Amino acid sequence: MEDIFCQVAAGKVQSDVIYKDDEVTAFRDVRPVAKTHILIIPNRHISGISEAKEPDAPLLGHMLLVAKKLAEQEGVASSGYRLVINSGPDAGQAVPHLHLHLIGGREMGWPPG
Ligand SMILES: [Zn+2]
Repeated sequence: MEDIFCQVAAGKVQSDVIYKDDEVTAFRDVRPVAKTHILIIPNRHISGISEAKEPDAPLLGHMLLVAKKLAEQEGVASSGYRLVINSGPDAGQAVPHLHLHLIGGREMGWPPG
């Protein structure tokens, strides 16, 4: 299955990659909703968080820690940021490949819309 994020992880499409290792790729969202809007994706295909399995736990933890480091790098760690995983149509998951949004650089409301 080759969705757009599989292609980003494989370097097959142009994207603004800011971090990459053996497990994950992080790149700037093409339609940012805040000054900082980065997507962190697993390099291997997982359709979404609802498809994640117990053996994926270290990968999921790694995604969160990468997000934390990137928040520091972006200078939003002290002002605050939000980590979002949308799952399914009601949540507005637009691409069927697990992705973690790192959003920061502006004040956000609660609950999210
Ligand atoms: Zn994929």
